[in-house]
This record gives sequence, structure tokens and C-alpha cells, in this order.
Amino acid sequence: MRILLVEDESAIADTVLYALRAEGFEAVHCLTGGEALREAQRTAFDLAVLDIGLPDIGGFALCRELRRGRDLPVIFLTAQNAEADRILGLEIGADDYVTKPFSPRELATRVRVVLRRAGAGSAPAEPEAGFVHDTEGKRIRFRGQALDLTRYEYGLLAALLQRPGAVLSRAQLMDRVWGDALDSGDRTVDTHIKTLRAKLREVAADSDPIRTHRGLGYSLEHD
Ligand code: CA
Repeated sequence: MRILLVEDESAIADTVLYALRAEGFEAVHCLTGGEALREAQRTAFDLAVLDIGLPDIGGFALCRELRRGRDLPVIFLTAQNAEADRILGLEIGADDYVTKPFSPRELATRVRVVLRRAGAGSAPAEPEAGFVHDTEGKRIRFRGQALDLTRYEYGLLAALLQRPGAVLSRAQLMDRVWGDALDSGDRTVDTHIKTLRAKLREVAADSDPIRTHRGLGYSLEHD
């Protein structure tokens, strides 16, 4: 599997190349978009890892050029706090993104996942089951899709995920997620559970993995 890495910071590129090669990938590094386009004419790549902030044409424009007339899975490297970049990236069809600073090994893992998914080709892709929790990056994927959660939604889901099937009371959840913020009442948990459920339904309309236990609290049914 041949990976194209376009990143203008050599220090970052070096660690990524190392991690990709350690995973057995063949990796080619370009410093600019122009260089990458020339390289892509010579070589057929299976996946591209693109920095968004490049000195010449920028990651999004580069993505469009590289994909002209062919399918190419793309993972973007985005700057920290660049929420807009992540949203735009997903809108133009990025397969995944990784926020700087990131662990090169995590990136290599995502490369493998995206390639596996792409390799399934037009065959109906096996939906990724249930939840995947990246505790370090504080991100949760549900059925293969990254969830865009608020801090409290994330906290609630993380707490439930930690003990699948167990019923957690509102007080326990308050304690875990809000700590000693005293200004929030019982309804707070319910409100955020409601928005969380709505986001899960956006991913899979048929699913409602959070179960309400009247008078007791909530549990998560892991599928
Ligand atoms: Ca850059």
C-alpha cells in the first residue's frame, strides 16, 4: 500500500513517515502541493495524508486536484482548534482527519482503518459496530462515524461507555461529568442525554443505545 504524505513541516513529516513505514506502508513525502501533484502523476497512491496549511495550494484544493478522475481516500491533518477546517474537510469528503498535535501511531492506525474501509470497495461496507472511544483524543465514533459532541455530551457518553449495561443514576452522572458545579439541577442530565440521543439517531435512525430506567437513571446497551 502506497501512501502520499504532503506536509511542509519536516519534523512532523519524519515522525509520520517513520510510523507509516513501521506499519509496513510504502510512504512518499512531498513538501508542497505542487510537488505532490507531480508525484501523483508518476505514482498511483492508495491513500493521501494532507496537511491543510500548505505553502502553495492548500490541502482542500490539493485534495480536489488529486481526486480528479479517481477515488483517493484522504486523511487531513488539521491545526488545533480549527473546527471550521474539520467541518469543511468532512464536507468535501475527507475520510478522516487528525488534529495536531497527534500521535503518529494513531495516524498510522487511522490510515489502516480508512484503507480497509476503502478496500471493501463497492461491496456493501460492513458497518463498524457500536462505539469506538478514543480516550486520549476525547472523541467517540459511533458506527464508524465521528460524533460531534459538546463537552457534556461527551462526558455523559464516556461515563456510560465505561460501564456498558450498568445503570448510572443522575447523581452519579452529575458527579462524573459536572464535578462540583453546583448550579446545575437534575434536569441538566436529561437535557444533555436528549441532545446526545438526537446525535446518535442522526448516525443511525434505528438505534437508541441509551436506555432510560425510570427513577433509576440511564444505561448504555452496547451493540
Ligand atoms: Ca503546515
